[in-house]
Amino acid sequence: MKNGPCPECNSTQVYYASSANAQGLRDEHSIHVIVDDLKWMYLDTYICANCGYVRSFLIPKDLPRFTAGVGKSKTWKKVE
Ligand SMILES: [Zn+2]
Repeated sequence: MKNGPCPECNSTQVYYASSANAQGLRDEHSIHVIVDDLKWMYLDTYICANCGYVRSFLIPKDLPRFTAGVGKSKTWKKVE
C-alpha cells in the first residue's frame, strides 16, 4: 500500500498523509506509546478511496524510539 495498490481491493485510488509535516493532522494521526514516560509518536496513514481500508505506519523518524523502548513497556506486548 505504501508503493502500490490497496491490499484489500487492489484499487490504485490510495491516498496518503503524514503527520510529520502536515499541520492539523496530529490528533488523528498520532498514537500514545508509553515506554519510560508518556510519549506521542506520529503516523503515516494510507486510505483507499475505493473500499475505505486504512493502514498506518509510525513515521520513520519515530520507529527507532519505539524499537529502543518497547521492550520495557508494560502496555505493548509482542505478538506471539
Ligand atoms: Zn481498497
